[in-house]
Order: sequence, then structure tokens, then C-alpha cells
Amino acid sequence: MMKKDLRSMNLHDMEQLMQSFKQPTFRAKQLFDWIHNKAVTDFYEMTNLGNQLLERLVKETEISTLQFIKKQVSKDGTTKYLFTLKDNNYIECVLMPYRGTKSKQRNTLCVSSQVGCAMGCGFCATGQGGFKRNLTTGEIVSQIYTVNNNDQLRVGNVVFMGMGEPLLNFANVINSIRLLNDSHGQNISMRRITISTCGIVPKIIDLANLNLDIVLAISLHAPIDKLRSQIMPVNKQYPLNKLKEACLYYVEKTKRRVTFEYALVDNFNDNKKHAGQLAKFLEGIFCHVNLIPVNPIGQLSYKRPDKAKIYTFLKELSNHGIEASIREEKGADIDAACGQLRGKVVE
Ligand code: SF4
Repeated sequence: MMKKDLRSMNLHDMEQLMQSFKQPTFRAKQLFDWIHNKAVTDFYEMTNLGNQLLERLVKETEISTLQFIKKQVSKDGTTKYLFTLKDNNYIECVLMPYRGTKSKQRNTLCVSSQVGCAMGCGFCATGQGGFKRNLTTGEIVSQIYTVNNNDQLRVGNVVFMGMGEPLLNFANVINSIRLLNDSHGQNISMRRITISTCGIVPKIIDLANLNLDIVLAISLHAPIDKLRSQIMPVNKQYPLNKLKEACLYYVEKTKRRVTFEYALVDNFNDNKKHAGQLAKFLEGIFCHVNLIPVNPIGQLSYKRPDKAKIYTFLKELSNHGIEASIREEKGADIDAACGQLRGKVVE
């Protein structure tokens, strides 16, 4: 018999489980607290459930865990974790600690949603390795719980920008967001959760219809189809006009601003003309642009522009009335920056 994973269950699922075990409903709340708030992984730490229930839980359920393999700490404090899953696949996640005062400490965890990725973006190490499988809801939330427990901290922001295209694992990503947001669990505000997509248009519409208070980030990286299709194969299926329609719909439905990620690549998408084309594409969309000087990845030949070019690009956007900023680079020295995750064990 396949054991049910408690970390993939919400309160309603647990209530149904308790019903099937002929247990009182309040047991579901107690179980939810152990699993999603205290994040314990050993049934015998659940001291208030009673022996009869514990025995059944041990026999018929499991708690998905990640096997910690190693962590690397960058000069800037960014920490990359490598985990194995039950089927021996590898995933990575990246912690970006907040450097403010202790009382305002807010750690951000960049989590993976898939093992590998099918989207093949040209600048991304994950995409070079191909797609293996979707992560379960339990495996997604386990990244947060494991980092919290291992490092005795509390992750307060979650960004789906690690390995994988989150909108292609829609149900599990949404379930995990709802679990993380649950006030009886981690209680992470929706506004502190970001989904970053390469532009899966029908799923952006589905997300808009859910009307969650999360942040939607779009990896744009080029302002015209001809360029974007060169580095992002997804653009052939969902070209910029379709992507723009979806973004406009998203803003109309949610009244929330969309973030556009734009990796600046030297002599590819970084001149004044490109900035003008980008401004034209963004016309009418309530948005903010993050400019990210591209990170070097292995043998790929992308180079970052020099500082002068980056600031000229930023100024040109501002001249067109587009709100933009240059994103602070974190963890590039340990391959933990944007586009550098690949779930590798050997350096
Ligand atoms: S950037 Fe994101 S969507 Fe593109 S290949 Fe990498 S992980 Fe996949």
C-alpha cells in the first residue's frame, strides 16, 4: 500500500484522514500543527496524539523529508543547499539572509518546483540538464521546513525561482503556497511569496483567476520576439503579444503589479534601442522591471555588460516612464545566483 504523505496534506485532507481513522476532528488540527508548524519528522515526537492514532499513522502514512547533502556559503552570506529526494534525484534551494536588525530579520528562500526543467532557457544551467519530474507539495514545503530546522531560523519570504518552471507544476505549487500561508502553519503572508515564470500564458490566466495576493514575476529577458526566441524557446509557443495580453489580464483581475526580470547580456539585449523596445512592450502594464546583469554559466558564452551600459539602459527606461531597478547580485561565487542552479554534487 502506498503511504500517504502528511506534508502534502492541508487541514481539510487531515480532517478526512481522521474521519477515516474514526478519530475526533480536533486531532486533525493537532496533526497539522506537528507537520506544518513544528515541522517534526519523527512520529514519536507527536506527544499529544495518543498511541492508537500514532500506530496507524506510522503504518499508513509518511512524512516526506529531504536528505541534506551539503551546503555552500557565499562571501555575501547567501547559502546554497543540496538535497536528495526519496528517488535519489537532487534539488537545490538558496537562502538569502536579510541583513537588517534582528527584530526585522526576514530570510528569503528561493525554492525549486521541479527536478530539472523542460523549458531550456539559453542562459540557465537548470534548463541545460532537461526535465526529470515535478516535485510533490510535500517536497516543496520540505525545503522551507528543512532549512528552518537545520539552521534554526524562520524563512519569511519564499520565491519560486529555483529549479523548474513553477506554473508547469501548478497544482502542487498552489497547494504548497496555501500551506505556507496557513495561519496554523508557517503563516507566511501571500505578499511575501513570488512565483517566477518564463511565460506559460494559459497558466498565467489560471493564476489570475485564483486572485492570490502573491507576486508574479515574468522572466522576459528580451523585448522583441526575434531576440527572445533565441534565448527562450517558450517564446515560440507563447510570443510577446500573447504574453502581454496575459499580463494585462493578470493586472486587471488581481490589481497587482507584475515584476519583469530582464537579464542584461552584453551586445545582445543591452543597448538603448532595446530599452526603448522594452518600454514599448511594457506600455500599459502596471509593472516593475528588475535588471539583472547576467551570471556567467559554465561554458555558455554570455557576458555581462559593463556598468556604464547597465546604467544607460536603466536611465533610458526611466525616460520612458518605466519603473526599474538593478537587482543586487547574490551568491554568484557559489553558483547560487539566478540561472545557476543545476542540482550538481561534484564541483
Ligand atoms: S530559467 Fe527557469 S524556466 Fe528557464 S530553463 Fe531555467 S529553470 Fe527552467
